[in-house]
Amino acid sequence: MRIDLHTHSNVSDGTDTPAELVHAAERAGLDVVALTDHDTTLGWAEALEAGATCGVEVVPGLEISTELRGRGVHLLAYLVDAAHPGLQAELGRIRSDRWTRLERIAAALTAAGYPLDVDDILAHAQGASSVGRPHVADAMIALGYVADREEAFASYLSEGRAGFASKYAPPTTTAIDLVHAAGGVCVLAHPWGRGSRRVLRPSAIADLRAAGLDGIEVDHQNHDRIARRDLRALAVELDLVVTGASDYHGTGKVGHDLGVNTTDPEQWDRLRSLAAGVPR
Ligand code: AMP
Ligand code: ZN
Ligand code: FE
Ligand code: FE
Repeated sequence: MRIDLHTHSNVSDGTDTPAELVHAAERAGLDVVALTDHDTTLGWAEALEAGATCGVEVVPGLEISTELRGRGVHLLAYLVDAAHPGLQAELGRIRSDRWTRLERIAAALTAAGYPLDVDDILAHAQGASSVGRPHVADAMIALGYVADREEAFASYLSEGRAGFASKYAPPTTTAIDLVHAAGGVCVLAHPWGRGSRRVLRPSAIADLRAAGLDGIEVDHQNHDRIARRDLRALAVELDLVVTGASDYHGTGKVGHDLGVNTTDPEQWDRLRSLAAGVPR
């Protein structure tokens, strides 16, 4: 049983359509794949339909942009009611600021000597409900400013670089409450990947656990062996579900092939049962 609980389609910043992603999951030998686009549930219908016609169980999910002490923290949510008004209102607010942020990023890059406008970016976000920095990176590649998404982030788009602009995100605990109100479960995405390790110290993860967090993503490409070991121990200590996943983005992210990390079936069963109407 091979389970991958974190993937992105071109409904956000991946490169496969939701249906293509599900078929790629089948070819990769996965039994279960969760579609977790950034801040949107718009890819669910297509992915679920594709899953129904092939041997892959599709789990509807999303990756919510949240903020903890001024830094971005990604929260994976599964099995929420996509029609929940409070959840959709918050997602709409995040996505809307993602669109206005493109203007701020374009202005900042232009001022830094890399002229580009929002239309240049939108040409690389066809069909996306949620636009983001990877689309800016694609525009910069097309304009010859950088070779790939990695270089775009490292040199211009990461926090502290010339083309960075922050975006609206709700506090992590607010997002946890919304996910639970919408009947779902939530897992902290790549807690010790890139910048988030600075705010997600063990005590902060314990606080999120007390606020209702259900699990943490331990097996992720941005975690080295030691980080995985220590996060696994923390999960035992805090009684959190442990997940593993690829964070697949199609051709948009190298080293994140479908199934490169997977979730233990027992852990998935536990997570799923937490969403199944258990009073909390
Ligand atoms: P945004 O949602 O616009 O803030 O952009 C975050 C997205 O950019 C996530 O999907 C990350 O996987 C991706 N990302 C962040 N840092 C990098 C990087 N250094 N190289 C490639 N992609 C990155
Ligand atoms: Zn992404
Ligand atoms: Fe993420
Ligand atoms: Fe992701």
